Amino acid sequence: MANTTIFSKIIAGEIPTEFVYQDDFCVCIRDIAPQAPTHLLIVPKKPISTLANAGAEDQALLGHLLLKAGDIARQLGVGDAFRLVINNGAGAGQTVFHLHIHLLANKKFTEGNLGM
Ligand code: AMP
Repeated sequence: MANTTIFSKIIAGEIPTEFVYQDDFCVCIRDIAPQAPTHLLIVPKKPISTLANAGAEDQALLGHLLLKAGDIARQLGVGDAFRLVINNGAGAGQTVFHLHIHLLANKKFTEGNLGM
């Protein structure tokens, strides 16, 4: 199968995982190695390997992921202080090659610091 990753297995239900949120297009799970008190991953069900490999046909899906990130942050009550991160490629720290958005919150973000 093309691009089978840990996230594909989680989405397929092969690895029992609590979904913070899910709909027809994405799931939201807690990161197994959190970098902040709140560290979620928003993962499209479509196994796009990297953001750079998304195509024009994914425009609505990418918008959906961002809108859901905002909704989920609101539901978590983290106010407007949250950070979204997408690592694209191994050189940028991507380790799971199934597109995902990190949602980090409830930590003090240093102004200008783009680290997680
Ligand atoms: P990245 O380095 O941007 O590809 O992010 C991959 C993230 O997936 C890392 O923050 C890992 O801690 C996280 N991760 C890996 N395996 C799991 C898992 N089984 N459940 C939840 N998060 C995971």
